[in-house]
Amino acid sequence: MTKFVHITLLLLNLALISMNCLVFAQDTETSLNKQPSSPSDNQPLYSSQIFTPEERALIDSNRIFKVCNVIQQASNDASIGIVSLIANKSGLQFEATPLLSWAKSLEGLKTGRCDILPWATKTEARSKLMNFTRPYVRIKRVVVAKKQEPYIRDLDEVSDKIFAMLKSNYAVTQVRKTHPNVQFVYVDTVQDEIDYILQDKAYGTIVSLYSAANLFNNEQVRELKVVGVLPPIYDDIASLATRREDSALHNILEKSLIATNPRLIEEFMTEGAVVSYDPDVDYQKYWGVAVSVIFVVLILVWWNRYLKTLNAKLTDSQRKLELLSVTDPLTNVYNRLKMDEAFTQEIEKSKRYHSPLSVIMLDVDHFKNINDEYGHVVGDGVLKKIAQTIQSNLRTNDFLGRWGGEEFLIICPSTDIDKAQLVAKKLRSTLANTEFSPLGKVTASFGVAGWENGESQESIISRADSALYRAKDSGRNKVCI
Ligand code: GH3
Ligand code: MG
Ligand code: MG
Repeated sequence: MTKFVHITLLLLNLALISMNCLVFAQDTETSLNKQPSSPSDNQPLYSSQIFTPEERALIDSNRIFKVCNVIQQASNDASIGIVSLIANKSGLQFEATPLLSWAKSLEGLKTGRCDILPWATKTEARSKLMNFTRPYVRIKRVVVAKKQEPYIRDLDEVSDKIFAMLKSNYAVTQVRKTHPNVQFVYVDTVQDEIDYILQDKAYGTIVSLYSAANLFNNEQVRELKVVGVLPPIYDDIASLATRREDSALHNILEKSLIATNPRLIEEFMTEGAVVSYDPDVDYQKYWGVAVSVIFVVLILVWWNRYLKTLNAKLTDSQRKLELLSVTDPLTNVYNRLKMDEAFTQEIEKSKRYHSPLSVIMLDVDHFKNINDEYGHVVGDGVLKKIAQTIQSNLRTNDFLGRWGGEEFLIICPSTDIDKAQLVAKKLRSTLANTEFSPLGKVTASFGVAGWENGESQESIISRADSALYRAKDSGRNKVCI
């Protein structure tokens, strides 16, 4: 038993150190040969044909974009570093505008004081006001409390406690949803958080592992420890947010992000961020907890390693090709090739984890008439706008791709048919209510299918296709399952 506990401790320690940041694998599983990383890793993209004329014009305009970071957050320094990394890709110029709170950043975005919010979590409500890039980093959240507190397996065990939190910490919103009884006291600085816990005014705090690492670098916090790692629904997921109307800026950031080597982002995040750990605890008492924590942690370590090897394989120029090879040049959503690949992976995941999976197929109604009456250029513009509208109404986990001429496919992981039908209904009405100048309203028909265990990709697609054709037959602008 003692030996087991020792191994446990060692693993936990190692894991906490190595998993402080998980950088997204920009959907880049490829069979490219291993290449040494080189200084060309972060070369600008500008000379490539990735940007549209509108996007190039914005880059050439010499406008300086204001990046509003929230200075009370530990992610502050990293977020500026990350924006510079990403923005440099495109040749955009920007300056840091430190603000005191998330609320101020939101206000700044409206008033023009800010152009980019560098550490924003995408939500449905916020998507109405802002464009979000795909997430560039995802970090575990942990509970930090006094050293003598027992380890916890999940938040249920501390749902009656008080947590000291920074006002801008999005974890508050996340935790409220699942544990409405948890109480929060809002503080202004990280130091206040520490003081509240040490003076027993709060049980603990919930922070990303990145912030925890920064917290533990502070000499004064020897009395605190990480008591638990929260499940993925509480992860701190960061995207770059911009105003809805600045879609060219959004596209530039998105493309630059896809083309940025995640390893460079990871370097920014992990520099100096190591969680110190004091094993002076009675683990024997909590060995069950320790085992489950380790289980989670091992998966994370494995995943982190996997990302590292994956990222090492990709050089910058390969990334550019990669970007071109997975996106549809007109609409900027995934192309069919990428959708096929994503589909295969998602089916594998659903098999392994017995999780639901659904697809939505949509086809624009009477699109030929649009081309005939207004010409192909207007038709192209309509397709672009449809893709944008759909994309901004989907979750970050969903895949949107152009399946054919005016046909799009959406893959919704972890989504059963009922939920997918709701998504399709929402998309249908959003589209039907969107103004497409100069032609007014455009509608689409939707076919939805839920994956049945063991079913092939071809089979579910063909079911979605039949549903779509029923939607067409029954008068268009409909959703059928
Ligand atoms: P339905 O409601 O039955 O779907 O009618 P529809 O007119 O949309 O269907 P149909 O499949 O007959 O026409 C699709 C048209 O889409 C024909 C094709 O010229 C046009 N199209 C396909 N790809 C593009 C594209 O990239 N740009 C433009 N502008 N038009 C395209
Ligand atoms: Mg059509
Ligand atoms: Mg069609």
